[in-house]
Amino acid sequence: MILITGGAGYIGSHINKQLHKDGYDTVVLDNLSFGHESALKWGEFIEGDLKDIDIIKSIFNDFDIDAVMHFAAFTSVAESVKYPQKYYKNNYKNTLNLLNSMKKANINKFIFSSTAAVYGNPKMIPISENHPLNPITPYGKSKVMVEQTLAKLANSHDFSYCSLRYFNASGADPECEIGEDHKDETHLIPLILDVAIGKRDKIAIFGDNYETKDGTCIRDYIHVCDLASAHIKALEHIQNTSENSQSEIGVNKKNNDNNNISNKSNVFNLGNGNGFSVKEVIDACEEITKCDIKKEVVEPRDGDPAILIADSQKAMDVLNWKPQYDDLEKIVKTAWMWHKKLNNL
Ligand code: UDP
Repeated sequence: MILITGGAGYIGSHINKQLHKDGYDTVVLDNLSFGHESALKWGEFIEGDLKDIDIIKSIFNDFDIDAVMHFAAFTSVAESVKYPQKYYKNNYKNTLNLLNSMKKANINKFIFSSTAAVYGNPKMIPISENHPLNPITPYGKSKVMVEQTLAKLANSHDFSYCSLRYFNASGADPECEIGEDHKDETHLIPLILDVAIGKRDKIAIFGDNYETKDGTCIRDYIHVCDLASAHIKALEHIQNTSENSQSEIGVNKKNNDNNNISNKSNVFNLGNGNGFSVKEVIDACEEITKCDIKKEVVEPRDGDPAILIADSQKAMDVLNWKPQYDDLEKIVKTAWMWHKKLNNL
């Protein structure tokens, strides 16, 4: 059985669905602060928070957990700058609660939901896992702190993990059972779709004077179902390699570059490898929704790098992963289907 923390959230719920399709049993732990009960369609559910060590303990007592997939975290970059302690507490300290409880319960397989924010302002594009870690926000820093802890654990104990660094998660379940539904939406695609359905007047373009082809920021949009398939491949990777890796731990201990921790533990970027500008995303949304999207160029948002594009070759080579939603239209189509359903249209 797999424990999914944050399994009622956007990404966690898509992974939960995919795990069930692939025959896994799951239990979700979620405090429902940002997740939705309506996304809890598969497996068991325990309402609770990772600051509560007793709840974690009781889950490990009550269920036969083989591995943990950890999504529960605060994710607003802007909020993290305003309230850093909140982020270190929830994203780092509470993860330590989970890891300590796993150790006590002899559970040693872990998949971590990480982010491209660990790289900060990129020094080279596309960004590979070897790019220096230089987070510029408490959100990114809290994720690096967890990754560093994981690397130490993997090098000192019988513990395997994969840390998956997402670029711009987007799209929705093509069967339209679940999708993106944030309380205070800040992400580009759902905000544009809000304009299409008349919920918002216009989309603000955060700056059009960047050094890019049309002056707007370029991002690597990766479909949430492609993230889901990568998680399952990462889980299989640590499951398949953990039996015969014991004898290799000593050898791999020496390799402590945080990016290639051992044969079984590893760090992977997850992106499409294609960049799309804000204007191109708006064009794609106009094309799919058949609506004119009103737009206004405003000041750039603090801390937004001009270009973020992933080099995900490592995930393709090691995990044998290949994104299926490899163009923007496919991504926006599923987001649009979901957005209409969410808004009863
Ligand atoms: N963006 C924008 N207007 C918005 C929201 C986002 O121009 O209302 C831009 C943002 O500057 C970035 C891209 O769209 O270049 C994607 O932003 P999002 O918040 O979706 O994801 P992020 O890249 O910040 O993780």
